[in-house]
Amino acid sequence: MKNKLIIILIILIVSFLTTTIQAENLKIHFIDVGQGDSILIQLPTQETMLIDAGPNDSGPTVASYLRNLEINKIDYLLGTHPHADHIGGLDYIINNFKMGRIYMPNVTHTTNTFRDVLLAVKNKNKKIKGATAGLEIVSQPELNLKVSLLSPEGKDYESLNNYSLVTKINFQDTSFLLTGDIEKKVEYDLINSHVPLEADLLQIPHHGSNSSSSNLFLYKVKPKYGVISVGQDNPFNHPSSQIISRLEKHGINIYRTDQQNTIIATSDGQKISFNTSANSKNKKIRTNNQTGVKISRVSLSDELVEITNTSQQEVDISNWKLVSVKGKQTFTFPKNTTLAKGESIFIVSGRGKEAGPQTIVWTGRYIWNNNGDTAKLYNQEQKLISKY
Ligand SMILES: [Zn+2]
Repeated sequence: MKNKLIIILIILIVSFLTTTIQAENLKIHFIDVGQGDSILIQLPTQETMLIDAGPNDSGPTVASYLRNLEINKIDYLLGTHPHADHIGGLDYIINNFKMGRIYMPNVTHTTNTFRDVLLAVKNKNKKIKGATAGLEIVSQPELNLKVSLLSPEGKDYESLNNYSLVTKINFQDTSFLLTGDIEKKVEYDLINSHVPLEADLLQIPHHGSNSSSSNLFLYKVKPKYGVISVGQDNPFNHPSSQIISRLEKHGINIYRTDQQNTIIATSDGQKISFNTSANSKNKKIRTNNQTGVKISRVSLSDELVEITNTSQQEVDISNWKLVSVKGKQTFTFPKNTTLAKGESIFIVSGRGKEAGPQTIVWTGRYIWNNNGDTAKLYNQEQKLISKY
């Protein structure tokens, strides 16, 4: 009897410990809503915060994302600013979920989208709290957790974008800066106000537009990770290629919802991990079938294959595959293999072959069938690029 009690007690303690361990994580989901923003934050307190809900048609998308996580209440709802790509889906969320507090900046707009949000709030018997810099939304010193607003100061900004709520999250040793659509004006205001801007993760402001992400701002925030919430082939050409190369110069690992879909950053208090790997420089080129890379020569008797980049850009061929169809062999290009424009690389096999600057030795064995063989080149998505 005594033993049984002890066993039950141990089970209880273990399950209590595991639930508290799970509860300690902070999770930030940058939900893929196309061109717009929607950020779900699962706090270590088990509470939920939703910042924006994307454009009008993405309300149901965000709602089903929340339901899949068994979320039925939003404890803190933030609308960063009254543009439709941010608050469009909010009315749907307000109508369909239990609501805690609702925050928006002290600015109005004349659109139907904005009116719909006000109406949904009213129908829910809720009030919008006008939010400005300095507001502490969550403060849990015992968890070392704080969510506060750094902007807006509430000035007369010319651009509605500059009213965006800027949210800073500190959780133990990790920090996050979520920026809405602020432009350089506010970036400089923030720098001049001497608030602590440094953050491990920065939501790149305004969908990566060159209205924002000034060098000085990036220097002050010093993020390791940058997340861009942006739609594929959007009419604004977001993100700007100038900004992408600026982020790369600052050594920021870039995550993009147009290329990696929903991005989830998880903090255990010490480090941040992601559900997907960072975007690499040449991803666009690599996924494109029209790479301009061709098998330009196959010499079966010499056991030599020449691959040439006929395009005007460098192409990353890491993890591409060269297949000898008859010989039934596959060669995988090593990591960090790139071909400059116009450059060729030779893949050789057979006894006594030597590697050189542009020559890779496949194997000391003979690969190609001398009675006739076909060479095929596949990119890392296993798409056929060239055949010889
Ligand atoms: Zn926007």
